[in-house]
Parts: sequence; structure tokens; C-alpha cells
Amino acid sequence: MKFYSTNNPNHQVTLREAVLRGLAPDNGLYMPLQIPELPKKLFKALPELSFQEMSLLVAKSLLGDDLPESQLSKIVEHTIEFDAPLVSLGENVFSLELFHGPTLAFKDFGARFLAGLLGYFAEQQSREVAILVATSGDTGSAVANGFLNVPGTRVVVLYPKGKVSEIQEKQFTTLGSNITAVEVAGTFDDCQRIVKQAFLDKALQEKLFLTSANSINIARLIPQSFYYFYGWSRLRTNVPVVFSVPSGNFGNLTAGLFAKRMGLPIHHFVASTNINDVVPSYLQSGLFEPRTSNATISNAMDVGNPSNFARMLDLFGHSQQHMLGEISGFGFSDEETKHAMQQVHREFDYVMDPHGAIGYLGLKKYQRDHANTVGVFLETAHPAKFKETVDATLSASIAIPDRLADFLHREKKVVEIGNDFGELRGCLIT
Ligand SMILES: *Cc1c(COP(=O)(O)O)cnc(C)c1O
Repeated sequence: MKFYSTNNPNHQVTLREAVLRGLAPDNGLYMPLQIPELPKKLFKALPELSFQEMSLLVAKSLLGDDLPESQLSKIVEHTIEFDAPLVSLGENVFSLELFHGPTLAFKDFGARFLAGLLGYFAEQQSREVAILVATSGDTGSAVANGFLNVPGTRVVVLYPKGKVSEIQEKQFTTLGSNITAVEVAGTFDDCQRIVKQAFLDKALQEKLFLTSANSINIARLIPQSFYYFYGWSRLRTNVPVVFSVPSGNFGNLTAGLFAKRMGLPIHHFVASTNINDVVPSYLQSGLFEPRTSNATISNAMDVGNPSNFARMLDLFGHSQQHMLGEISGFGFSDEETKHAMQQVHREFDYVMDPHGAIGYLGLKKYQRDHANTVGVFLETAHPAKFKETVDATLSASIAIPDRLADFLHREKKVVEIGNDFGELRGCLIT
């Protein structure tokens, strides 16, 4: 498969280049040149296949020419090591739980697949691949856990001192092995600036094969299409299926669009956001107006300029009308989010995290006018990741799963630096 830049269809690169670069040199995002449609009869057989088996089929049809099948299946098996169960909440509403991975959020899928691919590319060259990530919390933990002990790779996570929660911090500062956590005396913006400087440093680039693992990397998107197939196959329904996707940078929703282009019979998508609703606004007005984000209780979705919107525009030939044919968009306030969490807890004894709750709200709103549908919302994080908000909203104390609690007992190890690049350079080169 070749990949082209959304800014220039003539700029085409291999999978290896697209993954190692992340962003195209013209600042475009990489897109697969074709999205191959799977044979119709395959969809009938999907309910009989395991999550891993169908993921491998999808991966092979996209990347079968880019790496040996044995490698691809190893990577897929490592990615899909945990389940993504569907939980029924009344008639025609299902939660697709994507939080059963090591860091309890769907980002584990993308991080693990990317780690597998980069590990494979690292094996083919002499230099170590160093992954630099600036994080305000969640991305760092998913990436660090995804790359833990992957030979030929080393991860350096930069984070702002005192600005991430204890549980988030413990998930990337206690791993050791090939993971280094760097505590920066500064803000998240300082961390991002330092990472950018590292990428401009020629001497550093000669010593290390530097790459980033941010959410625009096409390798993080591809595995996110797997669970649409899995969720759909477990519904076993003939009624039109709708997926509601709680969205921030719109990677998850874009992966759903890939699945649909591969032939998966998804009737419609709902782009569900918090008050940072630039995409729902675009769907209404045809105007895309990025703005600075506002803080909400679904903070992983506080994005004012969603990076994957460029991919969505590309898929729909920059036509608002075409996009509207497949996607509806709604934004919700924190009050509405909390109310939905309370209502679902009362009615079904089910605890949603604030992000999943936005997905639920979007689905219910769509179904009000489209009753004859089966709806799935993506539950993108375990509620214990947002324990304070969830406990306060439900007047309860929800349990912390063992795999999250385990991190709290481990010892934090970090390299402390001021907020300048020189110190980071020093610790990268030694
Ligand atoms: C990152 C994240 C999202 C948003 O996903 P996008 O692919 O950026 O739209 C939603 N929920 C949670 C819990 C997240 O961590």
C-alpha cells in the first residue's frame, strides 16, 4: 500500500516512511492510496471469527504487501490481546467497551499496533528508533505501555511537572526498561516545543532514529478500524447499524469511515463532542472554524482544531453534503453529560465515563429521529480513569481495577530537566 499526503496526492510514500515520519513534509496527513473493499461473503462469516482473526483479515487487506504475513500477524496478535465486549443498555443501544487494555483506554489499540510496526522497522536498520512524546497524560501512558520491551526501540516521554494526575504519571514513570520519563519544569506547551526542537537537531538525528508517536500517525488509525468490524459482527442484526463516536481529534471516527469504505455495512455515524464542537458546527454550516478549546469534564476531547478533520475532508472530497450523508454531529455540555451518566447508572446500573457518556447522548439524540436503528456508542475509557468526576456525579465510589491500582504501588523514576532543550539533548545522547 502506498500512502499519500492530504495536501498533495502526488506525494506518495511507503508504509515505512509514512509510519516513521508521522506527518508528511508538507504538513499533510497520510492516507492509504486505496481502501480495498472486502468480499461480501466475508461479512456473513464474521460472527464466526475471533477478534484477532478478523483484525488480521482487515490488516492483511490494507498492509498485506508491506510486510511478511508472519510479522503482520505477530503485530496484530500483540495489539488485540484483550477483548472489546458489547454491553446492552436497553433496546437497540449498546456500549462497545474499548478500555480493557493495559492503560484502560482505546488508545492502547493504536499505541500497540504502532509499537509493533516500529519494532519491525527498527529490526531492519542499525540505529535504535527513539520515540519522543510530549504528553499531558493519556497519550504518554498508552505509548509507553505499548512500546515496553519492544526490542530496538526506546521511548522518551516528556511531561509537565505537577500537571498530570498521580495515576496517569505512575503509568509511564514506573515502567523502567526501554521507557524514560522526563519531568519538565514547565507546561505542556514547553514539552511540545522541546520535542519539536529535537526533531530539528541534525546531530541528534544522526545518532538516533527519532520519531514521534502522536495521534496523526496512520499506524495508530488502522487498528482502530478493527473494533468496528468486531462490534458489528457481534450485533448479528439486519437492522441498520449506527456508531456514535465521542470525538476530539477524530481519529476514532476516521477509523470507522475506513471500516465502512472496506465494505462494513455501517448505516450512519454520529460525531459526538462536548462543547468543543467545531465538527458538528461544520456539518451544520459548511464552515470549519477552528478555535481554542474550552475545558470540560471529558477533557480528552477538549480539542479546538481536530487534526484528523483533514482526513475526513479528503474522504468526502471536501463536500459538506457528502459528509452529511454519512455523519450527523452533536455537541453536549458538562451538565448534559453528568445527567446522562446519572440516568444510565439509575436505569441500567451501568457506569459510563464522561467521554462514553457523550457518545451515548449523541446516539440517543440521533435515534430520536431514526428509531429503526441499532446503535453502538464507543466507550473509550474505563470510568475509574476519571474517578473524581464519576464519583462526584454518581454520589458513589467506583472500584479501581487491579491493573490500574498496581501502578500506584510502583516506584516513580524520572529524569528532571528545566524547560530547555539542551538538557534533553544531554540525556538523549548519553
Ligand atoms: C483520545 C480520546 C478520545 C478522542 O478520540 P479521538 O480519536 O481523538 O477523536 C475520546 N475519549 C477518550 C477517553 C480519549 O482518550
